[in-house]
Amino acid sequence: MQEYRLFINGEWVETQDGEVLDDINPSTGEVFARVHQAGPKDVEHAITAASAASVAWGKTQPAVREEILIKAADCLQARIHEIADVLIDEAGSTFGKAMFEASFVVNLLRSAAGEARRIFGETMPSDGPDIFSMSVRRPLGVIAGIAPFNFPFLLACKKVALAIAAGNAFVLKPSEETAVTGLKIAEIFEQAGLPKGVLNVIPGSGPEVGGRLVDDPRVKMITFTGSTVVGKKLAVQAAQQLKKITLELGGKSPLIVLADADLDYAVDAACFGIFLHQGQVCMANSKLIVEAAVYDAFCDKFAAKVKSLKVGDPRQPNTVIGPLIRGAQCQVIDRHVQDALDKGARLLTGGSSESNFYQPTVMADVGPDMQIYREESFGPVVSIIKADDHEAALYIANDSEYGLSSAVITNDLQKAMELSLRLEAGMVHINDCTVFDEPHVPFGGVKKSGFGREGGRYSMEEMTEVKWITIQMGKRHFPF
Ligand code: NAP
Repeated sequence: MQEYRLFINGEWVETQDGEVLDDINPSTGEVFARVHQAGPKDVEHAITAASAASVAWGKTQPAVREEILIKAADCLQARIHEIADVLIDEAGSTFGKAMFEASFVVNLLRSAAGEARRIFGETMPSDGPDIFSMSVRRPLGVIAGIAPFNFPFLLACKKVALAIAAGNAFVLKPSEETAVTGLKIAEIFEQAGLPKGVLNVIPGSGPEVGGRLVDDPRVKMITFTGSTVVGKKLAVQAAQQLKKITLELGGKSPLIVLADADLDYAVDAACFGIFLHQGQVCMANSKLIVEAAVYDAFCDKFAAKVKSLKVGDPRQPNTVIGPLIRGAQCQVIDRHVQDALDKGARLLTGGSSESNFYQPTVMADVGPDMQIYREESFGPVVSIIKADDHEAALYIANDSEYGLSSAVITNDLQKAMELSLRLEAGMVHINDCTVFDEPHVPFGGVKKSGFGREGGRYSMEEMTEVKWITIQMGKRHFPF
């Protein structure tokens, strides 16, 4: 049984005042590893190390940061199967999802390397006759990231890589459920030659470790990805420090299928967009809104496809639905399904579970009074809602407190574009599902899906501060 320590100041250290906990494989229920959890002294150690390292790191040449990030990409490429194995055993990823996630991060690291050279300022005209006026972007210092369990490698690496590219030091608190994945990020950057203290990875309890990171004045920014409930708490806590925070939170993302769509294509898109990683995806299209003229046909085709999805061992290459991260999530889904049935929805397939494995579940005739219409189930369950026309579809799509991703499938591009501009979401994908990400795009949501954007230059802007500098070339006239 492998035991993992904390990564602080470039060293693998035992916890000073935390516990050592079992890390459970959600597929088998067996202990996968033992992981040291950070206590208060460890958090203090990590922030002190990051603070000290941030000074020299903030002054490094872009070429140095670029080289380390490219080396990290190469190290990861060489260890891709090892990382995928951890994603399967620790996070319950299917083989396909694990390989996708690890490979995405190779590109992400390369893309972040390029960003190190693109931290641009501006010059601007001045009303003063002899003034040269400019802005520069400076690193913030220490940034702390708090990451979720579902895409634990990708989402944490996005934060780490771009923060480092911008010249910041970083403290990462991975999810307790995917601590080893977080520590693998440290292994890769250590191998790539990142100086000591620039990255520190400290698994531990959310409120305990995460809370201390938010409260500490040496940490200049929090980048959080997780649930809306926790995000709200952190926003309040960060506000007390007037600390910058970006929040990538939950979603109930709509996919609209208009009557002229290619229905087979729409079924495939909708299926991938909800069942990838058992529906544990923030941008999953858990709300399918289908125009009345094709509603029945869509429901039949969609249910038939979903019934064919293989549930089981995530290591089998043809498995689509692996385990949920924890059994308790099955009860949340059961409650949502039962509530919808009680209020008149139809169960087209699924609706049951065995240990952590929930059958892919389709509910039709879902309405606004049902929990499943509004609440994030974070599992393999999807609602189908009938809309009279595209205006009704838009109303249903926007009838949500969330606003992360969205999608429209139609051959009428003019109508699609009009809907895209009126959809209350941070991201809209035409003729696609809602699940889509690339390293350099502005990923993020509106409403209760959070604020701030992650990816490429958008992260660089969040993770640096603009400073205005002037040079008085002549002599300014002072009135007294
Ligand atoms: P979560 O329960 O909110 O946890 C996320 C992280 O926050 C974990 O590291 C957790 O630590 C930590 N945490 C919990 N309570 C905390 C507190 N009081 N103070 C500081 N940190 C705290 O979310 P999750 O269950 O891991 O992930 C699922 C949620 O994330 C879903 O709602 C999903 O939609 C959202 N998500 C959003 C995006 C996006 O980009 N918008 C992407 C992925 C996931 P512990 O592990 O110790 O609890």
